[in-house]
Amino acid sequence: MTKAEKLNEIAGRVAKCTRCDLYKRAIRPVPGDGHPDAKVMFIGEGPGYHEDQQGLPFVGAAGKLLDKLLQSIELERKDVFIGNVIKHRPPSNRDPLPEEIEACRPFLDEQIQTIEPKIIVTLGRFSMNKFLPNEKISQIHGKARYVDFLGKRFIVIPMYHPAAALRSGKIMEEIKEDFQKIKLFLEKSSEIEVEEKSASTEVSTDKEENKQMRLIP
Ligand code: URA
Repeated sequence: MTKAEKLNEIAGRVAKCTRCDLYKRAIRPVPGDGHPDAKVMFIGEGPGYHEDQQGLPFVGAAGKLLDKLLQSIELERKDVFIGNVIKHRPPSNRDPLPEEIEACRPFLDEQIQTIEPKIIVTLGRFSMNKFLPNEKISQIHGKARYVDFLGKRFIVIPMYHPAAALRSGKIMEEIKEDFQKIKLFLEKSSEIEVEEKSASTEVSTDKEENKQMRLIP
């Protein structure tokens, strides 16, 4: 099965999912969208009104900002994969409940395992919590970490949610700056791989430190 086929198969299961009650009031499932081989995967929170109408992630106001931020680093939607922690819209856009996040977790995990992106950009605290629990977004946004997840090492860059940037000029400046890190890490990704390999052969006892090692810059 190709990556595209696998992602379609996951989307098919999302469309039929009854693991929590959100499907009952949602219009469409929003499994995620983008390049099956994306180097960068963005993970938001969950569908809002427009996403629910169209079945696509980030197509409302926050999505328009996401498009602009992508343009600022010479990327387009078709180059990346955009997904969410939950795949059906919560009523009145309320925060997802822990049990809803848990019910949806296998889909997102399978998407990550299928795409195997180099970089995972979390948008907002719910997706940050998946990889970096107990952290504060105001303290770690824009700081890349290595995170070992489901047997693979990813570069995770936590960022504010674009909707938060639409409400605050300060956060808007910060998210613009944080996005430039993606470009930097994409350009440097081959160097990072070399560093990682030599680190894991030379420093075998340093696993814990390597695990969530802060990257430079
Ligand atoms: N906000 C999200 O977190 N995800 C979307 O898909 C749209 C808005």
